[in-house]
Amino acid sequence: MTDPYRGSCLCGTVKFEIDEFLPQAAHCHCSMCRKFHGASYATIAGVHRSNFRWLEGADELKRYTAENATTRTFCRHCGSSLAFSSPRAAEEEVEIALGAMDGDVPVVPSAHIFVSSAANWTVLHDDLPQYEEKRGSARVNT
Ligand SMILES: [Zn+2]
Ligand SMILES: [Zn+2]
Repeated sequence: MTDPYRGSCLCGTVKFEIDEFLPQAAHCHCSMCRKFHGASYATIAGVHRSNFRWLEGADELKRYTAENATTRTFCRHCGSSLAFSSPRAAEEEVEIALGAMDGDVPVVPSAHIFVSSAANWTVLHDDLPQYEEKRGSARVNT
C-alpha cells in the first residue's frame, strides 16, 4: 500500500491524510465555491470517509452550512477551505479541496461543473467537458 496523501491548511494548524481518492474530481464554478475560495473556481475531489482522517487540528475547524444545506469545513485560524459535504451526495463521501494537498495526488479533474455560474473573466483553455450544473447536466461545450 502506498503512503497516505497529506494535506494541510495555510497556517499548518490542521493536517489530514487520505488513503485513496475516488476517481472523479472537478472544477466547480458555482458562486458559493467562487466566494468561499476567493477564486474563479474550486477544485474538489471525492473521498470515502473511511479513507479520510484529520491528523491534527480537528478542534480548530469551523463549519459553515449554507442555505442549500451544503457544509464547508475550514481552518478557523487561516480560513483555508478543506472539506465540502452535501446532503445530496452519498453519505459516506466527502469532497476535499485539492489545493490543500501538500504533494502530488493520483486524480486529475475531469470536468468543469456549474459553468452557468462562472465569472465572466474566467477563460477556460482545456478540453474538459463543461456542464451547466452538476456533472451530467446540460453541456456548455461540445
Ligand atoms: Zn490554518
Ligand atoms: Zn461549487
